[in-house]
Amino acid sequence: MKITLKPLGNVADEIMEELKDRVGGIFHCPIQITAGFSDLAQAYNPERKQYISSKLLASLKKSERNERVVGIADVDLYVPRLNFVFGEAAIVSGTAIVSLCRLRQEYYGLAPDEALFLERTTKEIVHELGHTFGLRHCPNNKCVMHFSNSLADTDLKEAHFCNKCRPRIIL
Ligand SMILES: [Zn+2]
Ligand SMILES: [Zn+2]
Repeated sequence: MKITLKPLGNVADEIMEELKDRVGGIFHCPIQITAGFSDLAQAYNPERKQYISSKLLASLKKSERNERVVGIADVDLYVPRLNFVFGEAAIVSGTAIVSLCRLRQEYYGLAPDEALFLERTTKEIVHELGHTFGLRHCPNNKCVMHFSNSLADTDLKEAHFCNKCRPRIIL
């Protein structure tokens, strides 16, 4: 098994490297960063000033059977029935996308907190990867597979899988 992280649009190298280390610490498998795509305009909805998550997700492809691909985008993502999404996974294709936008304190008019931002982003990436490994949402609010309705949910849960979810990961 191999996990590939791809920056979509502008994402700082230092952020990608930090996420690679953190996600690697949870999955214990090789993690690589490869070039994503930079043109996100195809997914932009000017009325909502947001990007449609599913379109970007559909542009992500894995190159090997035992690979999982996560696109990291620093733009606000949505799906038609929701105001926004933190991320989305395509289970059959083994791909996922995560938005950095609403994980920063600055988004809410608060002082920046880099450590908190990276912790939240790690949780969202691990959560979406969990879906690509066959996991559903977990009722345990400390488990990374617990559904985050808000950032408070994200902050309450931990970055790793609970004892019930971990053995269910289908590698
Ligand atoms: Zn989920
Ligand atoms: Zn769980």
